[in-house]
Amino acid sequence: VALSRPGEAFLDATKAVVGPQGWIADPAEQERYLIDERRLYRGRTAIVLRPRSTEEVACVVGLCHQHRVAIVPQGGNTGLVGGSVPNEAGGEVVLSLARMNRILDVSPLDYAMTVEAGVVLAQVQDAARAVDRLFPLSLAAEGSCTIGGNLSTNAGGVNVLRYGSARDLVLGLEVVLPDGRVWDGLRRLRKDNTGYDLKHLFMGAEGTLGVITRAVLRLFPLPKQVVTGFAGLVSVAAAVDLLSRFQAATGGRVTAFEVLPRFGLDLILRHIAHTADPLTDAHPWYVLFDVSSGEDGAGLTQAVEGVLAGALTGGILRDATLATNEAQARALWRLRESLPEAQKPAGGSIKHDVSVPITRFAELIERAQAAVQRLIPGVRPVPFGHLGDGNVHLNFTQPEGADTSGFLAQWGAVNHVVHDIVHELGGSISAEHGLGRLKREEIVRYKSPLEIELMRSLKATLDPLGIMNPGKVV
Ligand code: FAD
Ligand code: ZN
Repeated sequence: VALSRPGEAFLDATKAVVGPQGWIADPAEQERYLIDERRLYRGRTAIVLRPRSTEEVACVVGLCHQHRVAIVPQGGNTGLVGGSVPNEAGGEVVLSLARMNRILDVSPLDYAMTVEAGVVLAQVQDAARAVDRLFPLSLAAEGSCTIGGNLSTNAGGVNVLRYGSARDLVLGLEVVLPDGRVWDGLRRLRKDNTGYDLKHLFMGAEGTLGVITRAVLRLFPLPKQVVTGFAGLVSVAAAVDLLSRFQAATGGRVTAFEVLPRFGLDLILRHIAHTADPLTDAHPWYVLFDVSSGEDGAGLTQAVEGVLAGALTGGILRDATLATNEAQARALWRLRESLPEAQKPAGGSIKHDVSVPITRFAELIERAQAAVQRLIPGVRPVPFGHLGDGNVHLNFTQPEGADTSGFLAQWGAVNHVVHDIVHELGGSISAEHGLGRLKREEIVRYKSPLEIELMRSLKATLDPLGIMNPGKVV
């Protein structure tokens, strides 16, 4: 089906739906909707639409369907794979959910909260905490990303280990389908086996199957205490061992377990203000961990200290420190969260977001580092991230003094080398950021033709005109 550029009649009709405050045509005002977070893409559009309700979204999408105009749904525009911005041709409209930002209902007894898609993640967390509940999704973009974007990318973050990724935190969804009809799946049931679980189609679909307008989210008991610590180790294998010891000793209460290499910490200490090395000596690897409990008392800290003492005498651990107050815990987390920023002054960085079974984690890092160093002598690996989920952001900083654009020109070649190893180890080439535009071609190398065929037939069934975020994912 051929798509059309938005014409005058279409534009007048959509403006009438969303009202004078609901659209932006001025290119300068549009700018922040057109450039992606990583500045890999800069698109154009005739209009940015900012509806306020499901009804308005349904009318706008219905008009797009009728006029065969393509739509790019957008939340906080913090996505890392170019999925949330329109292409350069200017024929796609941006549908921003940012004004649908109301928390509709919080039910502590149901452990559930109903929200509109444009609510910022940090506000969801706050609203849960206000009723003594936890919404566990947490990532560095939480101050600006929206719940609709989180669900659409099936976001991960730092608590997946204990609570699962975004799709595990949802009881029900409301979705505007590509023809403008509204699917009301806003159930808040814990058990519902009445056929295919449709909500899971739309989560992780990156806006290619419909527009998520509302969601019922799962809440959890708020932990009474969190022990945060920072440990220095000789190897990644030792870190995997340490995690296993923690889980065994605490009954699976590790809520975050993040790894970073010495070079990463060096970059943080050099480039990020008000940071200090938490340990006295330098170590090849570090982990930052949270262990949480619903109970008060000293038991949890004692269990954590017991594991650390055993690991120290067992030669697994070199040194460790536990935060003794909230401020210290925040300072430790700030180290981890500032790593992507700290990499920037060191020059170009070729990035990967991959996962493998945790038993292959150490082997992945070792093999990928060696292979890329063979390809680009002097390249500086910065593998960091969510060890507890087998997910590592395998980033490579350019060799010292190298030409940045020459280095970045090897992005595709480096990706192939790393992704081939990931594939061999039974892993995924996009663990949490999605495919978007950036990895749409790359995935075809690794998913079986059958899986690609099934994905394409789902897309064709739900969106036969192909107006929903074209050029992304499939
Ligand atoms: P956008 O960027 O606006 O959109 C993302 C995708 O979802 C696009 O394809 C868009 O079309 C689609 N979309 C958005 N809203 C809707 C909707 N209502 N209906 C249908 N489709 C929609 N991700 C992780 O998984 N883990 C991390 O730890 C993590 N850390 C990050 C740290 C930083 C500093 C940054 C900048 C990003 C990070 N991300 C991480 C990327 C992550 O994907 C996004 O931050 C977030 O989940 C996207 O939310 P958003 O509202 O910004 O969505
Ligand atoms: Zn991550």
